Formats: sequence, C-alpha cells, structure tokens
Amino acid sequence: MNEFQLSAPADFGPDEPSTNFRATGPQFPPTHHLADQPAVAPARDVDTFVQEFLEELNFGQGVPLDRSTINHQYLALASTVRSYLMADWLATAARRRAHPAKMVGYLSAEYLLGRQLGNALLNSDLEGIVEEAMRQLGIDLAAVRAQEVEPGLGNGGLGRLAACFVDSLATMDVSCIGYGIRYEYGIFRQTFVEGRQVEVPDTWLALGAPWEFRNPERAVQVDFGGSVESYAGDQGRPRRRWRPDWNVLAVPYNYMVPGYHNGVANTLRLWSAEATRAFDLQIFNHGDYAEAVRAQTFAENISKVLYPEDSTPQGKELRLQQQYFFVAASIGDYLHGTLPEDFDLARLPEQIIFQLNDTHPVIGIPELMRLLLDVHGMEWDQAWAITSRCFAYTCHTLLPEALEVWPVSLVERLLPRHMEIIFEINDRFLAAVRAQFPGDDDRVRRMSIIAEGGDRGVRMAHLATVAAVRVNGVAELHSQLLRDKVLVDFAQLWPEKFTNVTNGVTPRRFLVSANPPLTSLINDAIGGGWITDLERLRELEPYAEDPVFRERFRSAKRANKDHLNSTLLAAGTAQLPADHMLDVMVKRLHEYKRQMLKLLHIVSTYEGVLSGRVPAEQVTPRTCLFGAKAAPGYATAKETIYLINRVASVINSDPKLDGRLFVAFPPNYNVTLAQRLIPAADLSEQISLAGKEASGTGNMKLALNGALTIGTDDGANVEIRKLVGDDNFFLFGMREPEVAELQSRGYHPGEVYASNPVLKSAIDLIASGHFGDRGASQALMGDLVGNDRFMALADFQAYVDAQAQVDAKFADTEAWTRSAILNVARSGYFSSDRSMRDYLDRIWGAQVH
Ligand SMILES: *Cc1c(COP(=O)(O)O)cnc(C)c1O
Repeated sequence: MNEFQLSAPADFGPDEPSTNFRATGPQFPPTHHLADQPAVAPARDVDTFVQEFLEELNFGQGVPLDRSTINHQYLALASTVRSYLMADWLATAARRRAHPAKMVGYLSAEYLLGRQLGNALLNSDLEGIVEEAMRQLGIDLAAVRAQEVEPGLGNGGLGRLAACFVDSLATMDVSCIGYGIRYEYGIFRQTFVEGRQVEVPDTWLALGAPWEFRNPERAVQVDFGGSVESYAGDQGRPRRRWRPDWNVLAVPYNYMVPGYHNGVANTLRLWSAEATRAFDLQIFNHGDYAEAVRAQTFAENISKVLYPEDSTPQGKELRLQQQYFFVAASIGDYLHGTLPEDFDLARLPEQIIFQLNDTHPVIGIPELMRLLLDVHGMEWDQAWAITSRCFAYTCHTLLPEALEVWPVSLVERLLPRHMEIIFEINDRFLAAVRAQFPGDDDRVRRMSIIAEGGDRGVRMAHLATVAAVRVNGVAELHSQLLRDKVLVDFAQLWPEKFTNVTNGVTPRRFLVSANPPLTSLINDAIGGGWITDLERLRELEPYAEDPVFRERFRSAKRANKDHLNSTLLAAGTAQLPADHMLDVMVKRLHEYKRQMLKLLHIVSTYEGVLSGRVPAEQVTPRTCLFGAKAAPGYATAKETIYLINRVASVINSDPKLDGRLFVAFPPNYNVTLAQRLIPAADLSEQISLAGKEASGTGNMKLALNGALTIGTDDGANVEIRKLVGDDNFFLFGMREPEVAELQSRGYHPGEVYASNPVLKSAIDLIASGHFGDRGASQALMGDLVGNDRFMALADFQAYVDAQAQVDAKFADTEAWTRSAILNVARSGYFSSDRSMRDYLDRIWGAQVH
C-alpha cells in the first residue's frame, strides 16, 4: 500500500543493541548472530486473556483479584494488552529488516498522546475480548479506563498533530520512528480557585507507566559547553574538534504505536535525562557526595518539565538544552545505533528523512553536520550535500513572537561547535544570495540566519529553511502566507522548496473511539471501510435527506451529551441543561484565538435581556462551553479565564435569563476531555483573527463529529468551508487582506467601541464590575478598547450577525441536522492519513538533488 520504498539496508529493531555509540553501562554480548525468530503471539480468545490478566495481576502486581485496587487492575490490564502490541512490534521490526524501506524520523519536542488503553484496544481489535474478560472477572472496565492519566507531553495542537501523524503512519504501514522527550511533568493540570487558574504539577508517572519500556542499553551521551580546538587531521588537514565540559545520558523509553487492525506497531522513542556515570563518579571520587547528588539532579532537570507556552515560547536556556538533548540523542541513536556499523553515510538521504515539527528540533541540522565533519571526517561540501537532503521543515505559525531566535551568546556557550557551524552555513548561504542579488544588502540582512543588532540571535526558521529539502505550511492559506510574507525572500530564491500539507486528525481516536454512537450509525449505513479511508464518508451524503437517519443522528448526539454530562458530574463540574444548543470553544487560551470575542457575544446577549432590548423568550437556549489552559506567565490569558468564570457564575444564576443561557468552563481541557466533549457539540467556534491561526485541528475534529462551524476565513477553516459548503458553515469577519489593510491604515478600537451601542453596553457592563472584581474587569476592558491587538472589536458586529443566523438555523431542527450530517460526510479530507499521504508524495518521497 505504500510506495515509500527504497532499496539499501536499513536496520531498525528492538533487539539491536547500540554499537559504537554506547555511553556508559554494562556491555551485553551482541545478539545478531541469532536468526530472526518469529515472535510468539498470544492467542486471541477470552479464556487466554483472562488467564494472562490474572497472571499480570498476581505475579506482576503482586495482588490477588479480591484485594486488587482499580489501579492494580488498570496496570495489569495495560500490561496484558501491551504484550499483544509487543508481539506486533517484534513482527513489524522483523518484517522491516527483511524488507528495508526508507524511514521517517519524526522529530517533535511534543506528543500530546491522550490515553493509551482505549486506543490500544481499538487498534489491536481486542475490545470485544477485553470487555468479555472483564465482565467474567466482575471488573468495571469503564472505571479501569478512567484510572489512566493521559501522558500530556504537549501543549496543544502541535503536540496533538504529532500524535495523530504517528498513528496514521502505523496504520499506513510506513516505517517511522517518532523521537521526543519523556517529560517527567507534562502539561500542568488546570484547576480553578475562585475563578482563577491555578496550575498543579502533572504527576502522570506517579501511579505507574505501563505503556513504556526503558532501554538503557541504547542510552546516548549528550555533550554540552566547553570549547572548540583546532588540530591537524589526516594528511595534516586543519580540523576542528569540540571539547565539551559536561554531559548527560539520554535514556530511551519506547512506546509502541499500533496501526489500526493491521498488526503493525511502530516506535515512539522518548528520551529521559540522567546523570552520566562518568560524570558523578568523578565527583564521588573527590569525596563530595552532596555535589555528586546535586549533579545528578542538574542532569535530570533537562527532561523534568514541559514548557507550558504555546505559540509564545520563552527563550530559556533550559529549553535550548532540552531541544539539543533530544535531537542529539535521536540523531545519534539513528546514525550509531540503528544503521549498520559499516553503512556508507553518503547514502544517508536514501535511508532517512528527519521531519522537523516546527523549529524546536532545528539544532539537529548543525548536529548532523558536526557528526559528519568531526566524527566521520568528511569535508564540508560532502557533509552539506548529505545534511541538506536529510531534513524537511514544517512551520506552524504566522505569529512573529512564535518564531524562535536564540541569542548567539547562549548558543556559543552551550554548543560552541554548533555555533561555528551555523556561522559557516550562513556565510556560504549569504554568498549565494549575494551572487544571485548583487548589491542587495537589505535582502542579505533580511535573509541572514543571524539577526544582527544589539543582541545577535540565531533565527531557527531561517536555518531550517536553508537546510531543508522542503518547507511546508499546515493549511492552504498558511502556506500561501508563508510564501508571500513570513519567508517571502526564501520563496523567491527557492520557489520549489515550498509546499503545503494541510493538517489532519486521526479518525480512530477522534471518531471511532470518541463517538461510538455515531460510529455505529455510520457503520450501519455504509460499512466500516471509512475508518482507514475517510473520504468514503461521502457515501453518507444521501442519508442527509433521510428523516429516519436524521432522527438517529440526533439521538446519537443526545447520547453523547448525556455521556458528557455524566463525565462532568463525576468531575464535580456543573451539569449542562438538557435541550440546549451546545456551543463549544475548546483550544489554548490565546488573544489571537479570541475567546474574548465569544465572551462579548455572551455578555451582549445577557445585557440585551437585562436592558429589555431582547425578550428572554427570544433567546435561543444555548450552553456555551469553554475549555482552555493559559500559559502560566501569560497575564492577559489568565485574566480572560478569570473573567469567563465570573461571567459564568453570574449568568448561570440570574433568573432573568429563564435558564436560556448557560456558560460552562470545565477545568483542564486535555485529549481525554476533548474526546468526551467534541462528539456532543452542536456548534464549533473557530473565530481567530484571519491570518493568525496556521491551521487548527480542533475545527476538523468538531466538523467530523457533526458540529457546524462558525468561523473566520482563517487556517483550515477555509478548506472546511469549501468542502462542507457555504450553506453548512457560518462565515463571518474580515479576511486576511482586509486585516492587513486595516492594520496599515491604522486600527482604532476605541472608535469601534464608541460607535456600536450593543458592543459598548457589553463592555461597559463588564467594566462596571457587574461580574465581580471591578478592578480586574476594568483593566481587561481598558486594554481591549485601547489596544485590541487581535481586532475582536472590529469583527464583533459581523460575529453577532452570524450568531443570529446560527439561531435561525438551529430553530429549524431538520435543516440543522441535514447540515450536521453533511459536515460529517464531507470532512473525510481532514484525516491525518491523507496528511501522511501528502507528506509522502510532496516531501518524503520528493526527488532531491
Ligand atoms: C485538537 C486539540 C487542540 C488543538 O485545538 P485548536 O482548536 O486547533 O487550537 C488542543 N488541545 C487538545 C487537547 C486537542 O485535542
């Protein structure tokens, strides 16, 4: 099924000990003289499963069934299921050794995986067996599933995308290894205390981590600091050599990534930092026990915590350490642990393509150069010919503040050899620019990898673009804006480098797993082929005209709402009123995403009733549901959360609204909650300022689950609207060129405020302290009317008008349901399987010279 096959041996498997790159630790005898044995696959029947489960419980957890806790049961069940995946993993590795193919090395600092148990059961087709086995044992499977703490090793869309991509590659049987960081603390758990966000550390490993297995034999030493020296190499050639002054050990933890019903399991390899033995032994030998322990803590800090900024990274030294740590470990693991020892590195681009998920792994480019130059003794031109064919770069943003720039002084101190190599790459690159555009010094300054000026910086996006075979944006509009604005000089120099791959989501997790009622409705209508061929959802289109199907569709939505309600009840969150439109805005809290615009619509509806402008009985019964974490240091975002919670508590208890408006904000939006919430949604809020949201994937998940979108012409909304049709989408607001035009003309939010009485009344009501904390309210409204960086006020009237169309359509139940079904039927394009097909066609299989 995949054409992504190239000749030449690639060796990648769980049983390959690392060879010439082993750091410390015991030496085990090599195992490759043993012939590949077929893996012993467990029998797939209920009795066998019960037996294996009890063995895991008794001999793995050390507890009899009648004394076991839910956590024991969860760990035993996970371990039992894992052994089935392990058999697939071994078989996949053996098959890949026998039929080598070019491999994808997906480099991502984040993987927002979501819970593993449900996904493993679904993909390995064990759901029926496990349900029956647990029933026979008297174990509550739902409670066991709820025991799992999801690995939250990502912030939001970018990390979730990486998780969807590795799922799709396994399902498509493409050889891929995902490389990342095993953060000890993932994204913080959000709680609310008197309406304010309070962050609690995410101790996801505390009760056991049954899905991973550590492989200390394949640990890689990662160096930092020190200096660079010259020496005479072969035939007296001048060479450079890094003399680092400290190091850590990167220890891999493997996760299996199962494909859907295909017996494939790929690898996700996450690195954890530990002190190297050489490092602390040296200090122990000096008799300083306390110092040795401190050193250990210092080393382990590197993979301790995920930085919780989304779109606005802080330029912290530890963050650069994390980036180099995982990339150096990954490239080292591949070059020196996976490839055969005698592999001819000139052929490296035939073996692997490293996909850079944003700029976080871009330090891998000078790292590969360093290995080829300094360790493998190549000359520059040869090393560059290889390196410049081994990476492809995905840009994820349009916000200038999200493009990473590292101070030259920091890179020099932490990675002095890499800084030299970056300067050399830049010198050679700028010489080529000068040759192409003689006398155009401005262009040279704009394109330089080094930002000059007071504090010189390394522009990681420029470095990535110079070295990559392909640069892609993540939706049509985003890729076009990359070419026309963000990287315009590069697109003029190398137009063929730039391409688009629109993001996607895995239908296994976000439809089959999350939405069983809709899944069985679809299966009854068109069979199950759509699960791995999502375009086949098109076959549902005629059913939109079938009143019986429409009623069944509504009843599936109701079941999902009930399920959501029971989840919220268990979590102690407010119950949602029955028979309301469920209007959902779930995504990270960011000004550009404009949660404030949604809040202004809510407050203006409420204010209309309070002031008598709108009779309460004319308000469409709606529940507006928010889910959003704010970066802990992002003050405006946290103030917005605080205001939403205050508005919710006033509106939900004001009898004047006659129960027609309800605002819910369950804390801690994560993948688990997304899977519960999205299937219940009627309306999807995708209201970012045009030209700011690169793609969005929440928009795709919601459309695929039959929510109608109210959205701006931004990111993948553009493609969603084109596919589902204007009649089934509520478009509003300025388009990107209008935004740019208004920006250059000069935007004055105060004038919009003063000239729109409905808007003014809503803002004034907030600022008056009606929702409590007058000081905080005034400050936030003052900033909005004074600055409004993302032009919420400019789009307010258009948004309110579009919401009136939403109300009108919702009143026509049959018309709404017809549109909802068409949203499902026409969202097949947004499968991450299709995204992977596009990467294979446009990027990974691309002919490179
Ligand atoms: C899909 C998803 C996101 C991304 O949402 P956007 O609306 O595209 O920003 C963020 N967080 C979680 C938990 C998700 O599942």
